[in-house]
Amino acid sequence: MTTQRIRLALQKSGRLSEDCFDLLARSGIKVRRHKDQLFCHSENFPIDILLVRDDDIPSLIIEHVCDFGIVGMNVLQETTLSKNAHDYSDLVEPIRNLNFGYCRLSIAVPSDYEYERIESLSGKSIATTYPHLLQKFLSTHDIDAKIIELTGSIEIAPRLGIADAICDLVSTGGTLAANHLKEAETILHSQALLIKARPTFTPEKQRIANLFMRRVQGVLQASESKYIMLHAPKDKLQQIVAILPGVEHPTIMTLDGDPTKVGIHAVCSESVFWETLEKLKDAGASSILVMPLEKMLM
Ligand code: ATP
Ligand code: ZN
Repeated sequence: MTTQRIRLALQKSGRLSEDCFDLLARSGIKVRRHKDQLFCHSENFPIDILLVRDDDIPSLIIEHVCDFGIVGMNVLQETTLSKNAHDYSDLVEPIRNLNFGYCRLSIAVPSDYEYERIESLSGKSIATTYPHLLQKFLSTHDIDAKIIELTGSIEIAPRLGIADAICDLVSTGGTLAANHLKEAETILHSQALLIKARPTFTPEKQRIANLFMRRVQGVLQASESKYIMLHAPKDKLQQIVAILPGVEHPTIMTLDGDPTKVGIHAVCSESVFWETLEKLKDAGASSILVMPLEKMLM
């Protein structure tokens, strides 16, 4: 019997590619990539990878060509609207946000444009690769503007006289500034997410899919969590545990040679900021150590 394999669609080359392969590596999935190859398979996990343009990923999942895909929320939402669907979860099963590929879809206008309110866009032309998201935003705000659909180099459209404004992805805003543009409205905040096809898998395929999702979940949960160790005066124990972010069951240990204090070890499932450590210190904690976690299996 041949082992069933699952198929994952990833962006071939672009802003999501490296983070996707890094996520696979951290999940213990070894993949050898060859230049110009559209298909590669893992040697130690039953997964095959299809390398495509990011815009094609939602459709590959919707059409069940691939079982899983990693795509930006921006592309997923645009595809959903282009297919006249009510919500992306009607088309694919969203598994989880992946904490990379952060950006926002924004409307930007030339720096010297006197932009006051959204009404300033009335009667103007806006160039974009996201016509559906832009149209939805304009309709919601009852703005009548002309949408000019372009496939690339959106940011030079105003200088070329093609459009008055643009609607494009922004992360730092550096590209906008370099093109003498300023951000006027944000339409959508986006990051990469793992999506899954909706069909019912065979039990064997479902088992592999679960294994894959658990690995990814474990890696992300570990990177979002920290292991914290500290000493606390016995009479402040409750107060100190209450400060620990996202801790359910801390381990409490006696300390050799100091009966007034206990040792606390805990996994914090939320970010541990300097402010948290300062609060712990103020509450009487000492010897505080915060460590990264590599893997987690709950
Ligand atoms: P492809 O050839 O695959 O169609 P592309 O040019 O459409 O590539 P990229 O620029 O590589 O796409 O961006 C891929 C995704 O990365 C975007 O859809 C978005 O989700 C995310 N992203 C994160 N930051 C940015 C940014 N500053 N600009 C554009 N995309 C960003
Ligand atoms: Zn694209």
